[in-house]
Amino acid sequence: MSFKATVLTLYPEMFPGTLGQALAGKALARGDWALDAVQIRDYATDRHRSVDDTPAGGGAGMVMRADIVAAALDASVEEDDPRPRLLMSPRGKPLTQARVRDLAAGPGAVIVCGRFEGVDQRVIEGRNLEEVSIGDYVLSGGELAAQVVLDAIIRLLPGVMGNAESGETESFEGNLLEHPHYTRPAEWEGRTIPEVLTSGNHAKIDEWRREQAEKLTKERRPDLLGE
Ligand code: SAH
Repeated sequence: MSFKATVLTLYPEMFPGTLGQALAGKALARGDWALDAVQIRDYATDRHRSVDDTPAGGGAGMVMRADIVAAALDASVEEDDPRPRLLMSPRGKPLTQARVRDLAAGPGAVIVCGRFEGVDQRVIEGRNLEEVSIGDYVLSGGELAAQVVLDAIIRLLPGVMGNAESGETESFEGNLLEHPHYTRPAEWEGRTIPEVLTSGNHAKIDEWRREQAEKLTKERRPDLLGE
């Protein structure tokens, strides 16, 4: 069974977007994953098809209505659907490679994209939405965030990434950032490739890469090493 993504959004035409190209796009065309983009506005109930309203308690902006978001969810996701239901949110738990791996091992994901100030708290609680953040900054909507989450998942799906090995030494697999890369030409603007990489000595190459990965991680992300 392939990975099934159901995305609820006010901008379904933004999908597949970047996920329609390159690795993810080819995997989509092959059926390694499936995508259903649901227009939340189709579940509006009034003449103006409104999906948002002013915040209770006052203040700037608009809030997406709980009843409309819930109606969109209920119509597009069966109650016993085993897929996790994510809500893109800067207040959510930051996405990690470990969480991405878990999601890629599962049947799919239902992803709600917020707009405006976000969604009414009651639908988060009432429909068990798990808030997920892609980083400590604020986007104008959840659509790009959903594509980031899906891109990270899709490349891990069986058969999607050509060279399976390239997954294993990658940044965040284990707790290290990846070592630097080089390719031809052998010299560029006076800069050469570290000699060890052209030595053909694979044990030495592995050792060098490991050292570089550790050095980089220490310098840039000591938090990954628990320091
Ligand atoms: N008022 C909110 C921000 C709303 S931004 C706050 O201050 O927390 C509008 C929508 O963009 C959000 O509902 C969410 O779906 C999406 N979004 C913005 N930043 C995000 C992030 N870092 N990670 C995931 N989704 C994000």
